[in-house]
Amino acid sequence: MKTHKLIMPLDMHLHLRDGVMLENVAPLSAYSFSGGLVMPNLVPPVDTLDGLKAYKERIVATIPNDYFEPYMSLFYKNYSRKFLEDVKEHILAIKLYPAGVTTNSEGGVSSFDIEAIRETLEAMSELEIPLCVHGESDGFVMDREAEFMSVYELLAKNFPKLKIIMEHITTKEAVDMLDRYKNIYATITIHHLLLTLDDVVGGLMMPHHFCKPIAKRPEDKEALLKVALEAHPKVMFGSDSAPHPKDKKEASHCSAGIFTSPIALQLLCEVFDDHNKLENLQAFVSDNAQSIYGICPEFKEVTLIKSEFSVPSSYGDVVPLFSGKKIAWSILEVD
Ligand SMILES: [Zn+2]
Repeated sequence: MKTHKLIMPLDMHLHLRDGVMLENVAPLSAYSFSGGLVMPNLVPPVDTLDGLKAYKERIVATIPNDYFEPYMSLFYKNYSRKFLEDVKEHILAIKLYPAGVTTNSEGGVSSFDIEAIRETLEAMSELEIPLCVHGESDGFVMDREAEFMSVYELLAKNFPKLKIIMEHITTKEAVDMLDRYKNIYATITIHHLLLTLDDVVGGLMMPHHFCKPIAKRPEDKEALLKVALEAHPKVMFGSDSAPHPKDKKEASHCSAGIFTSPIALQLLCEVFDDHNKLENLQAFVSDNAQSIYGICPEFKEVTLIKSEFSVPSSYGDVVPLFSGKKIAWSILEVD
């Protein structure tokens, strides 16, 4: 049977939450990934050095049996240069949320007046701290990401030395930005390579396919697939795996977020294999991130096999993408 090895897979956009949920989901990422960029949108957000260190300790405590590097990120606010100097060695990036666009982002940035954020972004450029951005406007839901491109342009032009990572891109407009600005990069999820809006609301409504940014049109998915499958050097895998308890998903006011971390590598193998591009998966899922962020994770080798895997109906109280379905690839072993 066909097998495929991945070395040091990295998940560059990961929600591990806190408390009981953290204990449930962190070991699942730690099993198959070498590391992940942990998002800071807790309640309250991770925006102090003490808070960050304590969160990292809580993460590490949940994974006593696996090597997994939780690369930490800080919730964007205007920070002083002195604070950024102190925090730099403890973080990989700072994550900017426009206020209120997704789960626990209420304390985010409410205006993109460049002068109001210049001091912090200039200090980040000089200290070489990348800026990760949840890029959505407050417009009509299908247009939010495309409308945000003007903000990315403003940031890229005003801070040419700042590494800007467009997180979980979903549109061809975002794909086009990659070759337009030297300092713009992107993460792509597995679910946006698989789903369009039709899979969310085209038939019966599918709460486990509902996330922000919402899955878009077929031509957007094709544009994402093109850069992912060729492992465009400015693109990396970030699952945006975002667990919510089942009763918050299968409910009126369904929370936004798709849980994929335990099946992400299997699904990536399936997609890349279906397009005869398995040879590019290593770059998409690790090598590109290593060179963009300048990181060198500890060795881990994951062997996948083209043999059906039945996705569990739930992991604890979290329902994964494609729960109860069969997917084409499984994890054979992890060394
Ligand atoms: Zn996210």
